[in-house]
Amino acid sequence: MYVEDFDVRKILNSRKEETIAVRIKTKDGTFETSAPSGKSRGKNEVFPFSSKGVETSLQFARAICFKIVKERISFETFQDLEKIEEIIKRLDNTTRFELVGGNVVYTIEASILKAIAASQKKELWEFLLEENKPKLPFPIGNCIGGGKHTNEKPKPDFQEFLVIPILQFNEAYFVNLQAYKEAKRLLLEKDKFFCGKTNDERAFVTSLANEKVLELMLEIKKRISEKFGRNIEIGVDVAATFLYEKKYNYSTSVFLNKKNLSEEEQINYICDLVEKYDLFYVEDPLHEEDFDGFSELMKKIKKISRKTLIVADDLVCTNYHRLEKAIKKKSINALILKPNQRGSLLEMKKTLDLAKKNGIVTIISHRSGETYDSTIAHLAVGWQIPFIKAGILGKERFAKLHELLRIERKIFSSREKIY
Ligand code: PEP
Ligand code: MG
Repeated sequence: MYVEDFDVRKILNSRKEETIAVRIKTKDGTFETSAPSGKSRGKNEVFPFSSKGVETSLQFARAICFKIVKERISFETFQDLEKIEEIIKRLDNTTRFELVGGNVVYTIEASILKAIAASQKKELWEFLLEENKPKLPFPIGNCIGGGKHTNEKPKPDFQEFLVIPILQFNEAYFVNLQAYKEAKRLLLEKDKFFCGKTNDERAFVTSLANEKVLELMLEIKKRISEKFGRNIEIGVDVAATFLYEKKYNYSTSVFLNKKNLSEEEQINYICDLVEKYDLFYVEDPLHEEDFDGFSELMKKIKKISRKTLIVADDLVCTNYHRLEKAIKKKSINALILKPNQRGSLLEMKKTLDLAKKNGIVTIISHRSGETYDSTIAHLAVGWQIPFIKAGILGKERFAKLHELLRIERKIFSSREKIY
């Protein structure tokens, strides 16, 4: 497959921040990818854009695509992405794509992959699939939000309060929407300041503190079970890096009537919450450099709950070497993967394979600033990632969720395939 032409554009994401869209043309059609942006970004992520700004990244993207077209570089396999990375390395030899920007690497690589797949008459997920019987991921939905994704105050200190239906995808999609509606009803009852407002990821904004929201989440779980006979799990993204400055600083007292918790107190606080609210999922419970604290927490959690996932997002940042360290120290049992945290899809796949080999549960994730791109839906199915965090509502979130609904029909429907 050869790239015949390309277009690199600047677009805005859901937060109205500038980002990149890359479109390439081959004899099989045109293939586009745009990049999302994080707000609660880990310090070990690659640079999303050039340290010189978005415009410089766009220029680099054009120069890289121009070279791919002019030199008639051929792409047939996933590993052929190395050809792109060789070009990029010659322009930017930094480990974190400081000059070019990780979003340039990601959008070019994903567009090329879509084109390779089409040249083999496949969709991206079909091209990536290594197993015969694909499964759809379970969608983790962000219902209520606080932390960095919410500007209003007061707000819960935790960033995300999540619902997790372990059900087949189409059912889980509807259950998440129902849970979201219940969240709104309950907030109208229990939060006198609530006016239906939502945050960056379309999660509801509330003035309630962490524990009050968790009580509400338990009520949502109960109502979903009563009304629909379906069980949902609940979880949180603590995003603890953004609470941490020497201590974990909360806006209201949370534990033993304290607002500022030491590492040990934070670990005990998280264990208490897991026990009290039967949490299935806890993302970034400690700050982004605390591999040992995570290990301590893992030891304690094992005694409380056998099901709970202790998830690394900012701790690992989709970085292979940081995952190696987390595995060696037994810091986690689950891992967030975000393509643009790393830029390189080759590296992301290596990280995913290492996680799978070591029994670490994986979750592919959107970012808080999103576009209409649906690539992560294809990566989830193609690479058989068991969970996807892609929100519940909003056009940018629907772009991923509805693509998964379509793929599910294509896989499981016995009707003539029109999907
Ligand atoms: C997250 O922390 O899981 C997240 C999606 O946040 P952001 O995209 O803002 O980094
Ligand atoms: Mg996170």
